[in-house]
Amino acid sequence: MSDPTNPKNRDDQSLAFETLAIHGGQSADAATGAVVPPIYQVSTYKQDGVGGLRGGYEYSRSANPTRTALEAAFAALENGVAGFAFASGLAAEDTLLRALCKPGDHVVIPGDAYGGTYRLFAKVLERWGLDYTPVAQQDLDEVRAAVRDNTRIVWCETPTNPLLNVADITALATVARDADAKLVVDNTFATPALQRPLDLGADIVVHSTTKYLGGHSDVIGGALVTNDATLADELAFHQNAMGAVAGPFDAWLVLRGIKTLAVRMDRHCDNAERIVRMLREHDAVTEVRYPDDDEVARKQMTRYGGMVAFRVAGGEQQALDVCARTRLFTLAESLGGVESLIEHPGRMTHASAAGSPLEVAGDLVRLSVGIENAEDLLADLRAALA
Ligand SMILES: *Cc1c(COP(=O)(O)O)cnc(C)c1O
Repeated sequence: MSDPTNPKNRDDQSLAFETLAIHGGQSADAATGAVVPPIYQVSTYKQDGVGGLRGGYEYSRSANPTRTALEAAFAALENGVAGFAFASGLAAEDTLLRALCKPGDHVVIPGDAYGGTYRLFAKVLERWGLDYTPVAQQDLDEVRAAVRDNTRIVWCETPTNPLLNVADITALATVARDADAKLVVDNTFATPALQRPLDLGADIVVHSTTKYLGGHSDVIGGALVTNDATLADELAFHQNAMGAVAGPFDAWLVLRGIKTLAVRMDRHCDNAERIVRMLREHDAVTEVRYPDDDEVARKQMTRYGGMVAFRVAGGEQQALDVCARTRLFTLAESLGGVESLIEHPGRMTHASAAGSPLEVAGDLVRLSVGIENAEDLLADLRAALA
């Protein structure tokens, strides 16, 4: 009888997301039967004679069994043919950009991209000779107008950080295809639990697994997933040639996090929806940013995630005061963990964007809504806003 836990004997495509999060690409350890992949904390592998590799492993930059298990999970969750695990989200982005572009090429990027992504283009890759144009990615005419003969990538982030703007992935895929460019989607905020860009026409998905995929604020990591075999070969070559891989323990932590991704995202969404309802009615709040009221988001997301941004009446000092007064919402950068976080983008995550087109308003507060009890979270925010 064929072993149903062996991914080769299973049609993962027929499994629901909650099941894939636990079993996608996974099988019991071949050597011991361990039901989860062990941490193969090892750099090199004994060869049975020159070139005689056992199980295909020779050196852990090229491949490591714990990382292989994580990469199979990435591919299963995003419905791709291959996944790749990196030391950070930015390491994944850097590897992707060098794999697909060369000096003299051009990339269209969101005007409100994640600050670190913007800095990678503006302060690192521009010096290498990669040109870029920031656009409002909601405006398809502006995206189309920014495309040039040498455009290799249309880069999309949706929803965006920190304003939760939504871009139409299917429409951008058409723009990219018409330009003979690739569509890259940073799916960090939505996660594959809520949005699957490859199914909507994207060529490559990027993640900071530091956030929801890891989910416990205890690891830095990144991922790339593609459904194109040729691109997969390019990415595999560059992952090994550039070497910014995830270590075995970090890979194991992200894999462990992914097992609960579906249930965590359900609770992140439940809690965020409750908080959004409260904030929208609060006198001290002038605007709430959450994509549940966006037509495109309704079309391409199943729910709208755990990230919420809002503007505080009065201005920057009032926003800073709210950040200082919460007790359950911890004042910290990053997002996507089980614990609720609060931050002031203008002074913290997006401080490097000051004076650039990405500068954010001083009265803006960003929440990463965790999976604590909703009533406790509401009480904490109400007290801070009082
Ligand atoms: C955090 C983040 C990144 C960068 O990932 P690191 O793991 O911090 O390198 C990229 N994109 C988005 C949307 C992020 O939130």
